[in-house]
Amino acid sequence: MNLQITCIPGDGIGPEIVAEAKKVLVKAGEKFDFTPVFTDILMGGASIDVHGVPLTEEAVAAAKAAEAVLMGSIGGNTTTSPWYKLPPEKRPEAGLLKIRKELNLFANLRPAFLYKELAGACPLKEEISRAGFDIMIMRELTGGLYFGERRTVEENGIRKAIDTLTYDEKEIRRIAIKGFDIAMKRKKKVTSVDKANVLDSSRLWRAVVEEVAKDYPEVELEHMLVDNCAMQLVKNPAQFDVILTENMFGDILSDEASMVTGSIGMLASASLNDTKFGLYEPSHGSAPDIAGQNIANPIATILSAAMMLRFSFDLDKAADEIEAAVQQVLKEGYRTVDIMAEGCKQVSCSEMGSLITERL
Ligand code: NAD
Repeated sequence: MNLQITCIPGDGIGPEIVAEAKKVLVKAGEKFDFTPVFTDILMGGASIDVHGVPLTEEAVAAAKAAEAVLMGSIGGNTTTSPWYKLPPEKRPEAGLLKIRKELNLFANLRPAFLYKELAGACPLKEEISRAGFDIMIMRELTGGLYFGERRTVEENGIRKAIDTLTYDEKEIRRIAIKGFDIAMKRKKKVTSVDKANVLDSSRLWRAVVEEVAKDYPEVELEHMLVDNCAMQLVKNPAQFDVILTENMFGDILSDEASMVTGSIGMLASASLNDTKFGLYEPSHGSAPDIAGQNIANPIATILSAAMMLRFSFDLDKAADEIEAAVQQVLKEGYRTVDIMAEGCKQVSCSEMGSLITERL
């Protein structure tokens, strides 16, 4: 079976970490009887340098023709790179916004998993970090406050800014279905987060989530107010499985959840549309400060590739084994510089990729 995968190596450490994820996918394919077929496209700064724009129509077409997209990350040093002297719509990040829109990626998934071996990096109290946690934050990505009508006006000499938060039931239903589908592949619990004590949009959110829940009798549903969720994430993160929430709440909570893991180089992410298609990328940026040195941590990208196998190709077993190989390498004490700890063995980006490939 061929898997058609478009790759966006991108900028900074992007090409280094994507190369390692490709290595792991090829090996997983040998073991689980699939062949990844990679087509590389340019995006971000790399595309600006060649084509003058951060994403060409040809690149969009290549992404659409694939079954999934695997991305490194894009962008450069925002103070010194000439890319940031360009108007906003020509800068690297405009490519990312465009591809998300073109591919209709409305569901953003960010796992926050605390590896036992990296518990020392968790900023929470030891009794909390010892219990570990494995959370999937599911954030609506194309609606809500960030996409509502906005304007700034002046009334009687006083400036006033207005942003609007709108959701219709279709937008809520499609993300809720994704959330429950993903919970079915995990511990079968959904915590739907809203502010239903204040906002109409949250009351509709809650009602539609409850309607969708009826189709998933095996999944336990609970509702939680966003302010309480922010507290619970640092007090008792082990209580969560899937956190399902709207755009702005998800933006804030997913960053909070990733920070409690303490390791930016370990965090994967996925953005999905209503088919099996998805764009998979690490949560971190292009780390221009360490680019080209072969020291970046490729694990977030490798785990993003595992998510791709799970969610776009239903190759759950292969995904499980990649995750287990990552854990095994950590258990053996291998670390890249960002997660280095006393008594461990420091390895380069490519060595980490090879170690994970060998353990598969
Ligand atoms: P960053 O995530 O790139 O880096 C923050 C810090 O973490 C740096 O010190 C970096 O060296 C380190 N780091 C990040 N990933 C690492 C890894 N895999 N291994 C080891 N160390 C790692 O954030 P930033 O410096 O704020 O942003 C740099 C560029 O990345 C900017 O242009 C920004 O716009 C862009 N960015 C892109 C994306 C994306 O492509 N989706 C996301 C975030 C930021």
